[in-house]
Amino acid sequence: MKRFSYVRADEVATAVRERASDPTAMFIAGGTNLLDLMKYHVEAPTRLIDITRLPLRGIEAAPDGGLRIGALVPNSDLAYDPQIEQRYPLLASAILAGASPQLRNMASTGGNLLQRTRCHYFYDTSTPCNKREPGSGCSALQGLNRQHAILGTSEHCIATHPSDMCVALAALGATVRVAGTGGERTIPFEEFHRLPGDAPERDNNLAADELILSVDLPAETFTGNTSYLKLRDRLSYAFALVSVAAALRLDGGSIAEARLAMGGVAHKPWRDLEVEAFLKGRQPDAATFGQAADRFLNSARGFGENDFKIDLARRAIVRALSQAAAGRPQSQTDKRIQ
Ligand SMILES: Cc1cc2nc3c(=O)[nH]c(=O)nc-3n(C[C@H](O)[C@H](O)[C@H](O)COP(=O)(O)OP(=O)(O)OC[C@H]3O[C@@H](n4cnc5c(N)ncnc54)[C@H](O)[C@@H]3O)c2cc1C
Ligand code: SF4
Repeated sequence: MKRFSYVRADEVATAVRERASDPTAMFIAGGTNLLDLMKYHVEAPTRLIDITRLPLRGIEAAPDGGLRIGALVPNSDLAYDPQIEQRYPLLASAILAGASPQLRNMASTGGNLLQRTRCHYFYDTSTPCNKREPGSGCSALQGLNRQHAILGTSEHCIATHPSDMCVALAALGATVRVAGTGGERTIPFEEFHRLPGDAPERDNNLAADELILSVDLPAETFTGNTSYLKLRDRLSYAFALVSVAAALRLDGGSIAEARLAMGGVAHKPWRDLEVEAFLKGRQPDAATFGQAADRFLNSARGFGENDFKIDLARRAIVRALSQAAAGRPQSQTDKRIQ
């Protein structure tokens, strides 16, 4: 690992100022992603700004009836928080589908949003990768791309965003509150992460000096009719091949409101508002869910090894929506598909 200096910030303003004054500095929270990337020489900050003492560990009621989750709330505390378990079970389930208990104890809410892709070439500094080194090429296009994206790709990058938690946050319509030298602002979740386009080195729309303060959940919880279905090569401790966050509000036997987002298929958690509108007012049955899946995937494209994901994603969408409609969410402790 390369040498770096270290500073601990006690106030948000200090952390932001430290970051703004040194473009090669980085914030560190749980360190579960950043330290790996430093060891692999993918990230080489000359200065680490430790933010773990900032007062961002609360889970508080928001004035609009939702919840405000501090950026430093550990993933495990969030998943087992009674308010999250009872009101936002989709979020609790998605978090418990990810990583391992030890990692979830360290990993923070803000860090989870900013974890980087698991594309093998991104980690292997001996290979071309536009995300790691802009303009060097994309080794995955013609290479090992079983894990890679089928939606929203570009000729410059076909990487996926690896987070489970973010897929549920996208479906729930969360917002991200950030602070920079210019003050605070709020970013809707669908605008937080980016598609690769011709600048795949940029994963998100945060400005360089901005610190995530909180993730805010809206009052609508979808309690009762949600499911997070994660399909992977092993039953535990593996990133998603595809994952689905499904949430429905049922009224008199039909769908009053629907949310549908996928992980493992794109450079960002992929939510489709047109498919959600299509589901509204329809019967919650297999025929409707099949049509929704076809619409969701109508622009999907594989790159060889990952062609299988298109059919897998279709079946996962139908399964997750069926589980949500029946009020029988996918268990994250018994991971056999119900
Ligand atoms: C073996 C392994 C398996 C895993 N499996 C899964 C999985 O199945 N599903 C899944 O979703 N995740 C998985 N993860 C990823 C894990 O969830 C992330 O590493 C973790 O959430 C990152 O949080 P952190 O606090 O440790 O971030 P850090 O490593 O501290 O930081 C990550 C990035 O976020 C930045 N950052 C952190 N906090 C802030 C903030 N408040 N504001 C601005 N920038 C900030 C840092 O500068 C850095 O760039 C796995 C990780 C490992 C190592
Ligand atoms: S898919 Fe993206 S991250 Fe992977 S090698 Fe290509 S440019 Fe790099």
